[in-house]
Amino acid sequence: MKLRIVVDPDLCIGAASCVTVAPDTFVMNLENKAEVLDHGADMGAPTYERIVEIAESELENIITAAQSCPTLAITVFDEEGKQLYPST
Ligand code: SF4
Repeated sequence: MKLRIVVDPDLCIGAASCVTVAPDTFVMNLENKAEVLDHGADMGAPTYERIVEIAESELENIITAAQSCPTLAITVFDEEGKQLYPST
């Protein structure tokens, strides 16, 4: 399945809990903001927004990482564009 994962760098305070929970999906950059990794798809360097192909088994981990963010800086959409987290 595909997800679109977005980090708002203006909201990110560098708490790094997303990286602790989901190190395959998030990484801290030099500005101490989280960016989204490509899940091995080799689509270039991390960015604040990325469409990733994941196994369904990874979804819960990514949502848990988004939930761990104290400032709600992470938004997760499914491939149809439906917002999965934060729930609307
Ligand atoms: S948990 Fe939130 S504030 Fe902390 S690094 Fe990740 S996106 Fe930034």
